[in-house]
Amino acid sequence: MSARQKREEELAAQQALPKIVSIDEPIVVRDLAEKLKLRETEIIKHLFMKGMMVTVNQTLDVDFAKGVAKEFGFEVIETATVKHEGEYGQLDQEGRKKLDETKFSNLQGRSSVVSIMGHVDHGKTTLLDSIRESRHKVVDSEAGGITQSIGAYTVDKDEHRIVFLDTPGHEAFTSMRMRGAQATDIAILVVAADDGVMPQTIEAVNHAKAAKIPIIVAVNKIDKADADPDRVLVQLADYGLSAEKWGGDTLTVEVSALQKLGLDELLDSILLVSELLELKADATVPAEGVIIEAQLDKRMGPVATALVQNGTLRVGDNVLIGSVGGRVRALIDDHGARIQEAGPATPVEILGLDGVPNAGDSFRVVRNDKEFKQQLTAGKQKERDQRIGVSRAMAAGFSGKSEIESDNAVKENQFNLLVKADTQGSLEAVVDVLQRMTSDEVKINIVHSATGDISEADVMLASTANALIIAFNSKADANAQKLAEQEGVSVKRYEVIYHITEDIEKWVLGQLAPETEEVQAGTAEVRQIFKVGKSGIIAGCMVTSGKMLRNAKAIVMRNGKEIFSGPLNNLKRFKDDVKEVATGYECGISFDRFHDLQEGDIIEVYTVKALERTSL
Ligand code: GDP
Repeated sequence: MSARQKREEELAAQQALPKIVSIDEPIVVRDLAEKLKLRETEIIKHLFMKGMMVTVNQTLDVDFAKGVAKEFGFEVIETATVKHEGEYGQLDQEGRKKLDETKFSNLQGRSSVVSIMGHVDHGKTTLLDSIRESRHKVVDSEAGGITQSIGAYTVDKDEHRIVFLDTPGHEAFTSMRMRGAQATDIAILVVAADDGVMPQTIEAVNHAKAAKIPIIVAVNKIDKADADPDRVLVQLADYGLSAEKWGGDTLTVEVSALQKLGLDELLDSILLVSELLELKADATVPAEGVIIEAQLDKRMGPVATALVQNGTLRVGDNVLIGSVGGRVRALIDDHGARIQEAGPATPVEILGLDGVPNAGDSFRVVRNDKEFKQQLTAGKQKERDQRIGVSRAMAAGFSGKSEIESDNAVKENQFNLLVKADTQGSLEAVVDVLQRMTSDEVKINIVHSATGDISEADVMLASTANALIIAFNSKADANAQKLAEQEGVSVKRYEVIYHITEDIEKWVLGQLAPETEEVQAGTAEVRQIFKVGKSGIIAGCMVTSGKMLRNAKAIVMRNGKEIFSGPLNNLKRFKDDVKEVATGYECGISFDRFHDLQEGDIIEVYTVKALERTSL
């Protein structure tokens, strides 16, 4: 087959694909070509025919790139619609409240969603089972009255409802539980009274803090002979949880999950805290929420448990979960019963999706079929882009700008770090030097620190908190490594403390916005206008001072007034493209986005000088 035939076939195959694209930032020609599934030369040729010379590495501004995409027959959609995705689920309490107040008009109180956290073997599973057994109504259903686990269940107490997230508590599911915190309004921290505060207890506290959710402490196993509940409360005070009964503001309840003691009191505490949170939702809008659990069922296909956080989910709705979507075929509640709709704070199984989403993903309903299809396609495209982006970011390593853009670890000059070290002594030393790097301008925030290797839970915490992981004589196991790659979490390993501070300093300096200064590089006067092509022009100019620089910021002055500002796109000496032209020489100048140059106009070019920061 000839090259031409082959290309024609490729093009025909492309015709079959939906031509939808979103462009939300300046893009280089090469990347635009990839996005539009075209060859770079096709774009360059297309622009050349329009009188514009571009190179593969040239950056096109957003509007211009959108124009090019349209010229190639693409529908350009606003990414704002994609960004909106899961907005509600990603927000903390405060954020949700604000969004509620400004966006929804039919707000009503909703039930709280609770998850149980704590160290392994402290009794999380037993507590979940005991609460379920003692309170959960078993109703007759199509499933034959068997209460099946869908990853969450509801209990009713005093006319109120509480939703418990019930993700299995074993290692493989830690990440899911960690993610569950985003769906959670209140965390129950289980601490065994005979064992006290342990590493995962601290991890859970830090996680709840990162997600800004209130904690209720359940001191468990009080039936045991060596139980010492007060010791637990003393230990927790070191981590910022001071018991209400001692004048602090953390509710603590003594329970025995095994003997079902104190469960009512625990539920009362949950209701008390939920009342204070004033949780609200609007049942009248299309649903949005978060996926708690999902798997591929041999018989039913993809099955996902969703927690509706706002709005009402109905059979027949179009559900969008990033790159996964589908029309809801059936909804099944936590009693195994088929239901027609699920309102706010309801966990429900969804059938009818076209793939298996990830636990922790946000979902939302898009009523309009056409919009839904477009957004699903955009979601699939975005996922592909992200996969490429993440591997690029990982490859970029620790320093370098590409990582900064993808890493997101920085917010208002706050740098989030998660520290793991081999021994308690080295951990303290590392944390100490890092904390001493905090200054007025830079805040180093250690979201969690512990001894041992990096676990999946660490990676999930780092991902939730947008943190970089610092590993001192500690490594990530294969699963954690894989998860870090998936989540785009950077892990940096060290053996010398000095190298940590050195790297962090470099990294921090690189991410602070550089101080810049604009310096005038030269001026030129327009002497003559030449027409090229149908609508293009080139201005024949004389450089009167300094030099003209291609791609530099230019300002066009007419009669002392600024009439255009933008990059100097094209600079020529006779027929050749050149990078610069010095004083006293003639040159040809044209702009991609301004074609109204006139004789006598003055073109000034500026360079931006970055004043390098050398210290914090
Ligand atoms: P998880 O790893 O936190 O989910 O802990 P489990 O619920 O699996 O409990 C670990 C062990 O502690 C099991 O053997 C439970 O029977 C036991 N256990 C849980 N709660 C209690 C309790 O209140 N009292 C006593 N004596 N044992 C408990």
